Amino acid sequence: MNLRIGNGYDIHCLGRDRPLILGGVKLEHELGLLGHSDADVLTHAIMDALLGALALGDIGHYFPPTDDQWKGADSIVLLQQVNQLIRDRGWQVVNIDSVVVAERPKLKPHINAMRDRLGSALELDPACVGVKATTNEKLGPEGREEGISAYAVALLSPIVTA
Ligand code: MG
Repeated sequence: MNLRIGNGYDIHCLGRDRPLILGGVKLEHELGLLGHSDADVLTHAIMDALLGALALGDIGHYFPPTDDQWKGADSIVLLQQVNQLIRDRGWQVVNIDSVVVAERPKLKPHINAMRDRLGSALELDPACVGVKATTNEKLGPEGREEGISAYAVALLSPIVTA
């Protein structure tokens, strides 16, 4: 069977006066993620997993933080572009799994909204988009609420044309 697997990781610092956007969903929180784009750490990890599956490099290559074009960019739009890049090469996403490491806020009430948002960007049933959340038990940068990190894996298969 012809399958490809990729993994992705990202971390962003938390700071004031920034929105907190995870998996394309804006969350109410007194802190948000710092970054050149909207700093959606979960969507970034997923993009790197998708690119990694085809050994196409990383998101920094396609959307460099030095390029003003991507300033404040909606990461979901970038994810759609990565999905198109994969499809253009004859591949489609089979499923995604991911973990967000955040001490606060509680992510559980928003997980399904994230799965829906990510799934529609990837033309994928939300049943094939795993999003999990964990705290870091107050350990490390995530535990001290200095940042939020995310891990993702993606499985791809060739697009079958009838
Ligand atoms: Mg990032």
